[in-house]
Amino acid sequence: MRLLVLFVVAAALAIGVGSLALGDDKPPDPRWPGGEVNVFAPTQGTIDTVIFAAERWTGSGAHVKVRVVKYERDADVVVRLDDRRLGRLCGPRCFGFTTALGRPKAGKSELFLRESLGKPTSLSVWVAAHELGHVLGLRHVANSPTCTIMSPTWFDTRCAPTLSEDVPRYRELWCVPTPADVTAAAKLYGGGVRSKSDRCV
Ligand SMILES: [Zn+2]
Repeated sequence: MRLLVLFVVAAALAIGVGSLALGDDKPPDPRWPGGEVNVFAPTQGTIDTVIFAAERWTGSGAHVKVRVVKYERDADVVVRLDDRRLGRLCGPRCFGFTTALGRPKAGKSELFLRESLGKPTSLSVWVAAHELGHVLGLRHVANSPTCTIMSPTWFDTRCAPTLSEDVPRYRELWCVPTPADVTAAAKLYGGGVRSKSDRCV
């Protein structure tokens, strides 16, 4: 049975607004040079979560390389566990939030994860991978006919994360990201879907 579960994951959609105000015809390029993004996470549990999500994107077949770095000063994106700020940014039911879609015009992006997701489970990796999708420049896909991790408010149990509290096993992350998500990233960065599995379509 297909079941939709209410879920809120979000990103600031500020891209292009500043350039119009400055009279610049060309919107800023949201892509990261070489598809490379460096992410810093503050706690061991979050580091593990983000490493899982980063490896799923880096191994997806899209030409992206998401690295988890040891020092915040080396990061393009800083992960925050701060439910008060997360709630202010996107509401009390929000699981994650990213402050920029793609590469910000200046400074570092912030990626918020709900504090309860600060340990590696299928759900926390799924949310981190969704937010990293925004970091790479992917927008939400509403009412997708196929599985995607980029749904704005729902996940679909055909390819949803398990709610187990255990560290995720490889087979639980097959659909993180899905072929539709990898295809979207490949449009920005090149490459294509590496796995031809039909598990997540
Ligand atoms: Zn989102």
